[in-house]
Amino acid sequence: MKALKEAIKKYGVGLGTEVVKVDSFLNHRIDVALATEMGKAFCEAFKDEKVDCILTVEASGIATAITAAQAFGNVPVVFAKKGDHRNVGSDVYTADVYSFTHQQMNTIRVSRKYLEEGMRVLIIDDFLANGEAVNGLMSILRQARCELVGVGACVEKGFQPGGKRLRESGVKVVSLAIVDAIEDGKIILRDEE
Ligand code: 5GP
Repeated sequence: MKALKEAIKKYGVGLGTEVVKVDSFLNHRIDVALATEMGKAFCEAFKDEKVDCILTVEASGIATAITAAQAFGNVPVVFAKKGDHRNVGSDVYTADVYSFTHQQMNTIRVSRKYLEEGMRVLIIDDFLANGEAVNGLMSILRQARCELVGVGACVEKGFQPGGKRLRESGVKVVSLAIVDAIEDGKIILRDEE
């Protein structure tokens, strides 16, 4: 998606060889106009599918999950919570997810009452790297007997295996921008439109 690629080129910072920092517009301060366009782009990419609900994980996936949900006609957004929140209760689906950015295991939780059997669910997240977060969300969907429509990532890091593995397993993955490498702090984007 052109506008996202331009924002990454203009404002993105490469940390080391693996981390893309985009917190001036995606995951700290949020460019709402861009988030709205990304939501529409996900809707367009999955327009032939029935989507009952969008699932993401707190916190950075929520903004784009909401704009995508609006584009789908205001379907509900469910976000998995990290950590042991008392207000989520014990009637939950859980999955253990290794966090790439925090380098620690988190248990993510979704209340059982928000995922009904047979629901068709689209997973959205800000980044797709090793696929841990998406795998955890997919595990929760299996526990809930929901159907996975596909996975939408704002930014996929093509040099990490998450996207490739998901596609090989038959999951439809749509990424709005793919980073192929970080070289001397420069973010190298895949040139495909
Ligand atoms: P994965 O679970 O696919 O390994 O990593 C995806 C999750 O880690 C996303 O939810 C995202 O928040 C975070 N993440 C992974 N790589 C990056 C990165 O390069 N930059 C930022 N800002 N977050 C990342």
